[in-house]
Amino acid sequence: MAEIRLEQIEKRWGGFSAVQRQSLHVADHEFLVLLGPSGCGKTTTMRMVAGLEEPTSGDIYIGGRNVTYELPKDRDVAMVFQNYGLYPHMTVGENIAYPLKVRGIAGSEREKRVGAAAAKVELGSLLHRRPRELSGGQRQRVALARALVRTPAAFLMDEPLSNLDAKLRVTMRAELKHLQHELGITTIYVTHDQIEAMTLAHRVAVMDGGVIQQIATPAEIYDRPANLFVAGFIGSPPMNLIPVRCTDGKLVAEGVRVPAAIQSATDDLVLGVRPEDVRLADAASSNVQGRVFTCELTGDSVLVTVQVGASRVIAKADRSFRIADGEPVGLHFDASRLHLFDAKTKRRLD
Ligand code: ATP
Repeated sequence: MAEIRLEQIEKRWGGFSAVQRQSLHVADHEFLVLLGPSGCGKTTTMRMVAGLEEPTSGDIYIGGRNVTYELPKDRDVAMVFQNYGLYPHMTVGENIAYPLKVRGIAGSEREKRVGAAAAKVELGSLLHRRPRELSGGQRQRVALARALVRTPAAFLMDEPLSNLDAKLRVTMRAELKHLQHELGITTIYVTHDQIEAMTLAHRVAVMDGGVIQQIATPAEIYDRPANLFVAGFIGSPPMNLIPVRCTDGKLVAEGVRVPAAIQSATDDLVLGVRPEDVRLADAASSNVQGRVFTCELTGDSVLVTVQVGASRVIAKADRSFRIADGEPVGLHFDASRLHLFDAKTKRRLD
């Protein structure tokens, strides 16, 4: 087990920079999730840690050792990929045993370890089947067992759950979390799924455009997003972001007059408020006013979209809430849960 350090790591293809001089420290035993939209550079970052891609510049340390130019097999990491990468001609047992075979571990020791790894992911009864005779979830578990069969310094997982159906994803997510807790192996996990990131991670690194935008605990990322990108990316539905200016101690836009808690040197601001922090109220007595654009029942709540000037603001209301489209309505923003950003620098203001 080991810590992983990326120092000023960069990956360029021609003039294009997929990862821009990023540094990242993953502590021993930590579960770090790299989260971001498609093309943001998360897989490239992971592949550099794995040794499948050579960085253009910068250094990678695993357990204090500089591994930047070491082959993947010498880095002592176990990888799990989206497409599982199982050998179709081998049985489940042979697939799981493979990392031991290439390291010259044979006989009863190998059998014992394969049995233990298969048992951890409840595959004990399927050792003689071939991958094509398994469901997606079972194949996923074979890939996991193959990673678990030895105790690597670190796990590297790239969207390992994305091929599974929604229900199985939830089950496997819980299993992964349980396993990581039990084994405590340092893990870097790549996903574009924010729920996966929030539920699994000790810390999340949110990436965009080859740059890490924020590294923090899931709660901090949600409660105090560092910039407009993170604010808009995390949360479903995402945070409402309303362009405002600061006038006479109030944040003002068409239909909006909210007391400003902070003094800002800049006038060009964006007010952020999450849908669950918006309460529907009487239009006359509210400092945010608009008209109902549409209502959507999601099951446990009703999402009410309100047109406020040029902005649309979503409020999460009780599941029994009913209102007709076009009705005038007031909105109350929870003052302790407001976020303010500089529209130019896109950074959070405190
Ligand atoms: P996804 O979630 O879609 O896998 P990602 O965040 O993992 O996205 P990367 O695969 O790291 O993104 O790719 C980052 C950028 O680098 C993308 O714009 C991609 O097109 C580019 N890229 C990746 N591999 C190469 C390559 N071999 N040559 C040139 N450009 C590449």
